[in-house]
Amino acid sequence: MAKHIFVTGGVVSSLGKGLTSASIGMLLEARGLRVRMQKLDPYINVDPGTMSPYQHGEVYVLDDGSETDLDLGHYERFTNSPLTRDSNYTTGQIYLSVINKERRGEFLGKTVQVIPHITNEIKAVIRKLAEPGVDVVITEIGGTVGDIESQPFLEAIRQFALDVGKENCLYMHLTLVPYLKAAGELKTKPTQHSVGLLRQIGVQPDVLICRTERSLDREDREKIALFCNVPLEAVIEEKDKDFSIYEVPLSLVEHQLDQLIVRRLGLTAGELELDDWRDLLHRLRNPEHEVSIAVVGKYAEHRDAYKSIYEAIDHAGMARRAQVRVQSIQSELLEEEGPERLLSGFDGLLVPGGFGERGIEGKVDAIRFARERGIPFLGICLGMQCAVIEFGRHVVGLDGAHSTEFSKDTPHPVICMLDEQKSITDKGGTMRLGAQEARLATGSRAAACYGRPAIWERHRHRYEFNNVYRAQFESLGMTISGANADGSLVEIVEIPGHPWFVAVQFHPEFKSKPTAAHPLFSGFIQAAIERKKAGLWTAAAGS
Ligand code: GLN
Repeated sequence: MAKHIFVTGGVVSSLGKGLTSASIGMLLEARGLRVRMQKLDPYINVDPGTMSPYQHGEVYVLDDGSETDLDLGHYERFTNSPLTRDSNYTTGQIYLSVINKERRGEFLGKTVQVIPHITNEIKAVIRKLAEPGVDVVITEIGGTVGDIESQPFLEAIRQFALDVGKENCLYMHLTLVPYLKAAGELKTKPTQHSVGLLRQIGVQPDVLICRTERSLDREDREKIALFCNVPLEAVIEEKDKDFSIYEVPLSLVEHQLDQLIVRRLGLTAGELELDDWRDLLHRLRNPEHEVSIAVVGKYAEHRDAYKSIYEAIDHAGMARRAQVRVQSIQSELLEEEGPERLLSGFDGLLVPGGFGERGIEGKVDAIRFARERGIPFLGICLGMQCAVIEFGRHVVGLDGAHSTEFSKDTPHPVICMLDEQKSITDKGGTMRLGAQEARLATGSRAAACYGRPAIWERHRHRYEFNNVYRAQFESLGMTISGANADGSLVEIVEIPGHPWFVAVQFHPEFKSKPTAAHPLFSGFIQAAIERKKAGLWTAAAGS
């Protein structure tokens, strides 16, 4: 029978519950256990697909096409837990399902209520992951204890221990222990209050993970243990990491969290196997090269909007032993100031995915600059579409070439809507979504990167390369190096005459892992290293 770990958060949001949950999953796997990961989000949207990245950060897409919370990205990068639609539920989905059942008459005669109907639905989605062969299910509850929306979820996990036995559940609470400069000390009161709130609703945490910028001394831990009714050994410090998020699992091991979990849940686990992870940190700490990459997107200051992109760049940096300095540049700013001023000196340009017309011309200008100057370029989804628009306008000579997403009556719709999309009116979950097969052209740069003829990558878009223009583009130097299985949809374009220019209709960033960098990102960073070595910018500055 699977054991359950519930991760809640208190005091403030953004404590890194997702990262901590992922780290715990990774440590349990490193002890030979089979883990499943899940996030329950208290907001009312059915999924984050219709939310602005400003509100919610990136939408993380799974193989099965579900649009999920970005914390699932941490889960996939840190663990081998297979993620599906069942790995992320929101209040919206829970209520939708209960209301649909009510309409079908499944509760005839009954008043449908939060307890037990909503809480039963929540418990059912948790139980779904506890399949035979699974040792531990880790369920993270989004939001912060005390939020109105969180209540049904907390109530459900309280009841869960009654259903499966207290000895099969472990409640872990992530909290903040702030350092007050004026007082010169760490303050435990917010933690006491937040645990107090949890206990009021009947959840006594077994383990407290204390986020802090300074180390807790024994006295701080004793105080927290006493006031929060938790054994001293279960007050675990998680100090801020200045260096890298990849240090988190190792620091939890230092505080013996894996041993505590294994003991407390009575798990039969092996020795901790962390060689891969230690090797990765070694590579990260000892780079042999340094490159700088510009990411030109709609959002510059909001890093969560392109979370997986930044992560994938880091992974490639580790794989190629390069310290990568990434700068995000708002594409609108590029429209005002020009690429020469903002992009000179960078060893690579990446244009990520996106929606909406704002900043499109800045992206097109940036891509033109990279194409003409031979700067390594990786375009992703909208980034590929902009590369096609740019090539259409400036190389093929199609004046006013555009995507019909931005210009309905462009004379040259080089990017246009998929036929299957034309009749769809609902916005949620209706794009071309999830893993699709692409076949790679022999001898292409893409085929060289992947080292195999067929790939599966994740999609999230409504528009596509317009096949009418294929021959024209190919004859002028932009080749189609990847297409779907029947050849009707363009998945990858590249310019063989350029040092490294590859643009893809899918999202490779979702399949990159710290221990297995994505081949396209890896190829891109290698090209940036080579450009840097060639010293072209320095030569230009000196001339
Ligand atoms: N807006 C474009 C489309 O829907 C690109 C989407 C994306 O970059 N994810 O096709």
